Amino acid sequence: MTFVFDPPRHPSVAVAGCGDRVPVRRIFCVGRNYAAHAREMGMDPDRDPPFFFTKPSDAVVDSGQTVAYPADTENFHYEAELVAVIGTGGRDIPQDKALAHVWGYAVGNDLTRRDLQLKAREQGRPWDWGKAFDRSAVIGPVCPVDRIGHPAKGYIRLSVNGSVKQDADLADLIWSVPEIISILSHSIELRPGDLIMTGTPEGVGPLVEGDVCRIEIEGLGAIETRIGPRH
Ligand code: MN
Repeated sequence: MTFVFDPPRHPSVAVAGCGDRVPVRRIFCVGRNYAAHAREMGMDPDRDPPFFFTKPSDAVVDSGQTVAYPADTENFHYEAELVAVIGTGGRDIPQDKALAHVWGYAVGNDLTRRDLQLKAREQGRPWDWGKAFDRSAVIGPVCPVDRIGHPAKGYIRLSVNGSVKQDADLADLIWSVPEIISILSHSIELRPGDLIMTGTPEGVGPLVEGDVCRIEIEGLGAIETRIGPRH
């Protein structure tokens, strides 16, 4: 068998402290998973089942890279998030077994074309153009579970040019990592290399050309992204 043209390079994210990379299969994102953020988006926080959207695997960007201000938006937003990296796949995973499927954790930035997302929401259209565009998922070096365990509390903090914009605690997640994994795996089969972006706390806001956006999660280190000229 011959490919008719060269297949694209497999998307991957860095592993902390070594040159290894995690191959990325799919990126699942949880919507509105902190009560205060749900309120700032004009929604009621509740315990309705979580909802998901996805990003393409090749949207991943390493920390330290410049991300060009994307096309078609006048309101480009940051979203600080804890990312869980699946190392062992499965279906119908019970909550009490879910953490055994996690290989590691990373800091992530769910970059969003907010104007396109809100317009899609109003019109009942898909979120893809607001969420799943090129270079929309900054994912920091992944810290393996065997080194850092499973962070369930600790600060998650985002600053733009040194000024703090988001400052919350992982303990405030409405749906915890084991709950999310269990619920997801009852709907789709999880596989190694799946990334789960677990949602952002309150304080989302815009980025403009020249901004440096830094996100830090207790125990996981920090990621940094510079916004470049409009694409
Ligand atoms: Mn998000």
